[in-house]
Amino acid sequence: MTSPTAEPTLAPDAQTSRRVLCEQVAALYATSWSSTLADTLLAWSLCAIFYWHLRDPMVLVWLGLHFLQLLRYPLLAAYHRDPHAAERSAFWARRQARELLIYSSVWGLAPWLFMPADNLPMTALMLLVILGLSSGGVPAVAPRWPSVLCFMVPMVAGLISALAWRADGDHLFLATCSAVYLGATLHFARQQHRLLTYALVMRFEKEALADQLRQQMAVTQRVSEEKTRFFAAASHDLRQPLHAIALFGAVLEKDLQGRPEHTHAARLMRGVHALGTSLDTMLDVSRLDAGVIAPELQATPLNPLFQAVNQLFASRADEKGLQLRLRASPLWVRTDPQLLQRLLANLVDNAIKYTPRGGVLVVARERPDAVWIDVRDTGIGIAPEQVEHIFDEFYQVNNPGRDRTQGLGIGLSIVRRLSELLSHPVQVHSRPGRGSLFRLVLPATSAQEPLPTAPAEAACEAGVLPRRVLLIDDEADIGDAMTALLGSCGVALQVVRDEALAIAAFTEAMTQATPFDALVCDYRLADGADGLDAGLRLRTRFDPQLPLLLVTGETAPERLQWVRESGVPVLFKPVAAQALLAALASLRRVV
Ligand code: ADP
Repeated sequence: MTSPTAEPTLAPDAQTSRRVLCEQVAALYATSWSSTLADTLLAWSLCAIFYWHLRDPMVLVWLGLHFLQLLRYPLLAAYHRDPHAAERSAFWARRQARELLIYSSVWGLAPWLFMPADNLPMTALMLLVILGLSSGGVPAVAPRWPSVLCFMVPMVAGLISALAWRADGDHLFLATCSAVYLGATLHFARQQHRLLTYALVMRFEKEALADQLRQQMAVTQRVSEEKTRFFAAASHDLRQPLHAIALFGAVLEKDLQGRPEHTHAARLMRGVHALGTSLDTMLDVSRLDAGVIAPELQATPLNPLFQAVNQLFASRADEKGLQLRLRASPLWVRTDPQLLQRLLANLVDNAIKYTPRGGVLVVARERPDAVWIDVRDTGIGIAPEQVEHIFDEFYQVNNPGRDRTQGLGIGLSIVRRLSELLSHPVQVHSRPGRGSLFRLVLPATSAQEPLPTAPAEAACEAGVLPRRVLLIDDEADIGDAMTALLGSCGVALQVVRDEALAIAAFTEAMTQATPFDALVCDYRLADGADGLDAGLRLRTRFDPQLPLLLVTGETAPERLQWVRESGVPVLFKPVAAQALLAALASLRRVV
C-alpha cells in the first residue's frame, strides 16, 4: 500500500472512481453558499477602498461585472435541488469548473481595469487581495484538479499580465514574484488534491472489502447450516435400519459361535461396524457444530487410553504389515478421555492409512508444563502447501475422484474441532516421502487413582443388568432384535410401540407386582411423538426413580441440545450390542 505522505498512486476500479467523483463534487458544492458571500464582501470592500482613493469609474464598471457574474449563482444552487445529482456528478463537475472559470476571469480583469500604474501602495493592495484570494480558496476547490486550475489560473494570470504590461522594473519584479507564487500554490494544491482523492479511494475500497467480507461470511454460515442439516437428515435415516442390523447381527454372531458360518457373521459385523463408524463421524460433525458436546475434563492416565487405541488398530496395522507401537506411559493429563481417544484414534487411523511400509509410533513426552502426544509415521508425508488445508472439511490430497475407500475427508476436520473443544493444539510436521508427525499439546496433571471401570463385555455375565426392561419403539425389527439380544443375557424385555401401550404395560406390571427395572425409549416414535417426553411422563407417573435410557438416530442439533439438557443418558444408533449392554449395566435409580 502506498503511504499517503509519498506520492499516492491510484488505480481505482470504475465503481470506486464513480463514488470518488460523486463525493468530490458534493464537497465542491457544499461550500458554494459561504464562499459566494465571502467573495461578495471582499469585492465590495476592495472597490470601496479603490474608489475612495482613486475615484476611477472603472472600479464601478468592474463591480458591475462582478455583480453580473453573481447571477450565475442559481445555476450552481440547482445542484442542491437535483434529485439525481449523484448520478450526474460528471455534469455538475463540468458546470462548476465553467462557472469558476467565469468567476476567476472577472477577478483577472480587475488589475487591467483599475490597478493604477503609478501608485505602489494600491498596486500592492491589489496584489495582496488577488494572491490571497487565489490561495485562500484552494481548500474549497482542491477536491477536483480542473476546478483548481479554473479557479486560480485566470485571476493570477490577469494580475501577472497587467503587472508585466506596465513594463517597469518594479512591476516586472512583482509580476515575477506573482508567477512564482502561482506555481508554488498550484504545486501545493495538487498535493492536497491527491491526498484527498487517495483518502476517498481508500475509504471506498475499505467499504467494498468490508461488504465483500460480510457477504462471504453470510454464504459460509448458510453453507455450514445446510451441511449440518444434511448430515443430520442423512445420518438419521441411515441409522434406523443399521441399528436393527447391528443388533440382529450380534445375536446371529453369538448363535453361530463355534460353527464354520461364524466367520461370515464376524465379517458381516465388521462391515456393519465400519458403516457405523462412518455415521458416527458424520454425527460427530453435527454434534460438534451444534455445540452439544461438553468436554468433561478430568485427570486421565494415558496408558489405558493408549491400550484402547492399540486394541482398535492392532489388527489393521498387522494386515498392512506395519509396526504399530503405542509406547507405555506413566503420564497423566487433564482431558476428556473419550474425546481424546476419539481424537487420537483419528490420527492413528490416518497414520496407518497413509503409511505403506514401516510403522506408526505413538509416544507421550513430558515437557515443563505440558505433555506432548506424538503420532509419528513413516508414510507418504504431506507437501508443505497442503498442510494448511488438510484440516478443512472434505479436503483430501490426491483423491480427486472422491473414492470412498480412501476416506471421507473429514477425519482431520473432526480432529480440529475436538482439539479446539479440548484446547489441545495440534501441530503438524511432515516431509513428503519421509512421514508425518502430528503432535497434540495437552496440560499435564498429577497422577490419581484410576476409577474402576466395568468392562462392557463382562456386563452380560456379571448379572449387573436390569432384570425387567420396558422398551418403547415403534419399529418391530428393532424390538425383535433387542428382545433376542437382551434375552441371551437373561434380561426380560417387553416391547411396546407407543406411550398408551406403555401405560397399559406399567399398570399391568404394578398389579402383578413385577415392576420394570429400566425404561428404554426410542426418541422419535410413531406419528412424530417425542420419546423423551413420553419417557419422562411415564417415569413421573409410575416410578420417579426408574432409570431411563434414550436410544436415538436423531442428529438435528436443536433436538440434541434438548436431549442433553434433559440429563437423560442417550445412545446413538446404530448402537453396538456391547455398548447397549454397558449402558444398561451402568443405569442407576434416580435419587
Ligand atoms: P481422509 O478421510 O482423506 O483421511 P482426513 O481429513 O483425515 O481425510 O485427512 C485429510 C488429508 O490429509 C488426507 O486426504 C491425506 O492426504 C492427508 N493426511 C492426513 N493424515 C496424514 C498422514 N498421517 N500422512 C499423510 N497424509 C495425511
